[in-house]
Amino acid sequence: MEGRSVQLDDVWQAVLGEIEVSLSRGSFITWFKNTCLLKQSEETTVVGVPNVFIKHQLETKFGDLIIDTLRKQGASVNQIEYKTTPLASRSRVLGEENEGEQPQLTTNVIHQSEASLRQSSNGLNERYTMDNFVVGDGNELAFAACQAVLQQPGIKYNPLYLYGGVGIGKTHLIQAVGNALQVRNPDAKILYIATEQFVREFVMALKKRSMAAFVNYYRSADALIVDDVQFLADKDKIQEEFFHTFNTLHQADKQIIMSSDKPPGDIAKLEDRLKSRFAGGMSIDMHAPDFETRCAIIHTKAESHQAELEPEVVEYLATTIQSNIRELEGALNQLLAWCEVRSLKPSVAIASSLLQVHKARPKHISAKQIIERTARHFQIPLEDMLGPKRDKDIVVPRQVAMYILHEELHLSYPKIAHELGRKDHTTAIHSVRKIAQLSQIDVSLKNTMDNIKEQLYA
Ligand code: ADP
Ligand code: MG
Repeated sequence: MEGRSVQLDDVWQAVLGEIEVSLSRGSFITWFKNTCLLKQSEETTVVGVPNVFIKHQLETKFGDLIIDTLRKQGASVNQIEYKTTPLASRSRVLGEENEGEQPQLTTNVIHQSEASLRQSSNGLNERYTMDNFVVGDGNELAFAACQAVLQQPGIKYNPLYLYGGVGIGKTHLIQAVGNALQVRNPDAKILYIATEQFVREFVMALKKRSMAAFVNYYRSADALIVDDVQFLADKDKIQEEFFHTFNTLHQADKQIIMSSDKPPGDIAKLEDRLKSRFAGGMSIDMHAPDFETRCAIIHTKAESHQAELEPEVVEYLATTIQSNIRELEGALNQLLAWCEVRSLKPSVAIASSLLQVHKARPKHISAKQIIERTARHFQIPLEDMLGPKRDKDIVVPRQVAMYILHEELHLSYPKIAHELGRKDHTTAIHSVRKIAQLSQIDVSLKNTMDNIKEQLYA
């Protein structure tokens, strides 16, 4: 523990003490055990973590909580960094920095999570394959269509358009097709791009006057896979560009694959000519998989971590989390990591204590419920929330509602604006950003929002 001062340890112990009471015991131990404070100054705060798996979790899930709690302890936090460090792992626990000596499961968990972060320049992530996609009720049609595409790319089902809810395997499947195409034809230019990224690149190309290069890059693809095309909505210039790219590729019999959260016809503010192009090949809706398929998915994922699970544990997970495979996978990873740290065998009892949060949450909370609950919390009439008034005591609750819509339902900005009766989606962007920033420094605002959320899920 050389190099770390007693003072840093004290601060961190105080922070941990506070965080411990705000999380379930399972989460706390899984994510915070063997962390430490490596540096604390006006400019930077550095938190030491035992491995990249934990690092990723702390950054994405607990970042705000850690910053808030540090500030409560009087630390000024400007920039925060998470650093994997052997100092942070004091026992045989998850990942010493020197590789090779780790328990097997841990190695896999870590590598899996690194793999999921790594992407080659064509946007494909080799983690997703047709082989590790579990086929069952809800996705079998989509899977069959992908196989057909693989047999005759560009000819059968062009474009292929898959749509459905969050976390049901759309990205996995279209990535898998891309990987399979690339394997069969190593020289082909197979491109995967998330629509948001496409939009960012387009804007950048406009700014840098490099439109020709941008256009060429995509129009010379042998297969183009575009994820979440609903985000093209309301972006006229990009739609125009995408229309031409689409046509160029389509006319040359190059395969186009798209995913979206809704059928082409339902994407508001999408040009009619694009809607008809998107629907002109094969559109297939995907659903959340049924119970048996969810169990099979858990088995496959557990196997990839070289872990064995009793059937009742698998069934417990599959029953508790039904609609979103991403959440299901998260829960499984949490369970495996938690048990691995303590050399315990995963059981229903452990799973259920780790998953209390999930259980408490109903599957669906509507935008309307969020807006009503927020209005009630601030004691303002719903009409004012949705109406034109611009007084501060109405604007702030409205912004808070937008932020919660963004956080909890992952709605697009145009949709958020629409839900609150605004025409301009930039209002939603500004509001969400503002509240995100404010809630970092204003603890009472953060508490207010936590309260609203708690009531929503109560
Ligand atoms: P979507 O794009 O529909 O939101 P993803 O493709 O990102 O969902 O899936 C979320 C997670 O669930 C991914 O890690 C993916 O590998 C996994 N997943 C979803 N469906 C399946 C399946 N049928 N078999 C294996 N893994 C799946
Ligand atoms: Mg996706």
